[in-house]
Amino acid sequence: MNVQYIKGVGPKRASRLRKLNINTLLDLINYFPKDYEDKSYISLIQDSNIGDKATLIVDIVGIGQIIRPRRNMSILKVPFKDASGHGNLVWFNQPYLRDRFKIGDRLIVNGTINRMGMELQVVNPQFEKYADQNKLARIIPIYSLTQGLSNNELMKIVETGLEMAAGSLWESLPENLRKKYRLVGIKDAIENIHFPKSGRHLIEARRRLIFEELFTLQLGLLMMKNERYSEKEGIRFKPISQVEDFISALPFELTGAQRRVFAEIERDMDKPRQMNRLVQGDVGSGKTIIAALAIFRCVKAGYQAAMMAPTEILADQHYLSLSKLFDKWGIKCGLLVGSLTAKEKRELLEKIKEGRIDVVIGTHAIIQENIEFNKLGLAITDEQHRFGVKQRAVLHQKGQNPDILVMSATPIPRTLALILHGDLDISIIDELPPGRKEIETYGVGPNMIERVNNFIRKQVSAGRQAYIVCPLIEENDTLDLNSAEELYQKLKSHVFKDYRLGLLHGKMSAKEKDEIMKDFKDGLIDILVSTTVIEVGVDVPNANIMVVYNAERFGLAQLHQLRGRVGRGQYQSYCILINYGQGKIARERVRVLESSSDGFKISEKDLELRGPGEFFGTKQHGLPELRIANLFAHMDILKVAQKEAMEIVKSDPNLDKKENQPVKKKVAELFEKIEQDIVLN
Ligand code: ADP
Ligand code: MG
Repeated sequence: MNVQYIKGVGPKRASRLRKLNINTLLDLINYFPKDYEDKSYISLIQDSNIGDKATLIVDIVGIGQIIRPRRNMSILKVPFKDASGHGNLVWFNQPYLRDRFKIGDRLIVNGTINRMGMELQVVNPQFEKYADQNKLARIIPIYSLTQGLSNNELMKIVETGLEMAAGSLWESLPENLRKKYRLVGIKDAIENIHFPKSGRHLIEARRRLIFEELFTLQLGLLMMKNERYSEKEGIRFKPISQVEDFISALPFELTGAQRRVFAEIERDMDKPRQMNRLVQGDVGSGKTIIAALAIFRCVKAGYQAAMMAPTEILADQHYLSLSKLFDKWGIKCGLLVGSLTAKEKRELLEKIKEGRIDVVIGTHAIIQENIEFNKLGLAITDEQHRFGVKQRAVLHQKGQNPDILVMSATPIPRTLALILHGDLDISIIDELPPGRKEIETYGVGPNMIERVNNFIRKQVSAGRQAYIVCPLIEENDTLDLNSAEELYQKLKSHVFKDYRLGLLHGKMSAKEKDEIMKDFKDGLIDILVSTTVIEVGVDVPNANIMVVYNAERFGLAQLHQLRGRVGRGQYQSYCILINYGQGKIARERVRVLESSSDGFKISEKDLELRGPGEFFGTKQHGLPELRIANLFAHMDILKVAQKEAMEIVKSDPNLDKKENQPVKKKVAELFEKIEQDIVLN
């Protein structure tokens, strides 16, 4: 039903409600308050703090008096007493209220406590006849509003809406789950989320609605996954015995975790259905080699592979290391990046089409170009958190349902990964290659810069290399940040004038960036001053110092990623974070990094300090928007809801059973919006 037809709404208010995305009665009752004001506590006038808002039960003890201190101003004072003492109810410029009160009336009032000399006042109070059930002394919902719609108005509309909708609310949660987790019924929950009878009622209402939302979300995702399994035929790659020889020829032993993850990938490749797998592993856990193994099997089985990286530097690096690995096995790699000349590009595309290139490595040029594969069997995206869901989807549509492998260095708990990566299977590399030295991490203030510079000189003189990273400057940023360019000039002409410095930033052309990066890799540059373009995946084992200027400007997970650029070789490595602000959060973040190198722990802490909004927003992950649940904050409920959802889907994959119809309808409701979004895109 359209909101316009709710009593007291009409076209004008309806258009304002639409601004809040409230179109129907259902939208309205699902428009939950963003906060509450607890007016339920009854105060005594003698004990109330001056300036506070308080709710009191008062008896009127005298006739109201109107004072006119000036023209255009009136003050109405109505004397009262409560259980603790006397005072006046005071209204400004509302003389007509006087006749509303009689001596002996008992009222419930809520207003600001004030004192004038000896006189205690309740200023401009809301008031109501005292009764057991009253609307004033309660927990009041606070809604997000829009211009021309007050909280009071919206409260009234919701109240009417609730009465109208009461009969048509339906229970989506299976009876046994409600019993098991003692979840209140839907009607109870909806009423108390808007107008809580007590704090306890509010908590129970929230718990139930959060459970319902997460349970529904997880069910929907599991159903999508099932659908994919039954629908999508993929490729069965024939077994390749040379894979073991390839592994034996590597310069190192695979870690246990790498072996396990590759075994999971191989199991997928053995099967005729399409692989959709996420490989999650902290920085330096060795994901590239996993990709190489999958590519090896794919190519040897007669197919082409594509690997997409978020930056040209990274694509280049993958190209170099994969070419080196594959060279002696007769596997040919091609690099497809934006900086190729038209002629180079044309030739490369030709070769790919004819199947003369086995592995295409590139940036999103891979999806932009009109690239035609001869026989694409495997599509890999590296550092997937840098790509949008849509970009990935495009790569996946090339070829005949190629197997999909997604690599991510964002370590998040499995519970969340199951949600955020919706319908992907998940492998986790939870072990670093042996012999890695802990990176010594220090947080320092700007007063330490000279000592830091001395330290860099010492290390570089001993043959090592260093990164110096500073944040991006946004235009019209007035803060005194060290822009890469400025810092580079300063360091080059003074502090490090006897060393070879390089500068890397996002505004350089891809070709320039590549040259600098290659020089750094080849040891032709000692100290690389850079913005965060080097954040992702770059591997230079000889570099052992990472200095971050304005570290307070970076997220914790980002700092962890940056730190991951060092500690990749046999040398003791150092990460020095230069903090300009000394806020509590900045200090806490440094402490976390100093004391931990576990990416999973760090990302959890990151969320705690920064709030989940940024990272765990559902929208950028292509998930439906949640009304009340928060994936991170409600992890405990998520775990339980997830377990139960899996249980149900196991016995009823498409929710066809009669008892699962209500929740199936709820799933459709939740996902309806996002399907519309997808169609619109
Ligand atoms: P990431 O997971 O961050 O992408 P990389 O794949 O770049 O990590 O690997 C980091 C470094 O560790 C590389 O230099 C790689 O050669 C090396 N490496 C990978 N696996 C192992 C292993 N099992 N033993 C020793 N070194 C390894
Ligand atoms: Mg990597």
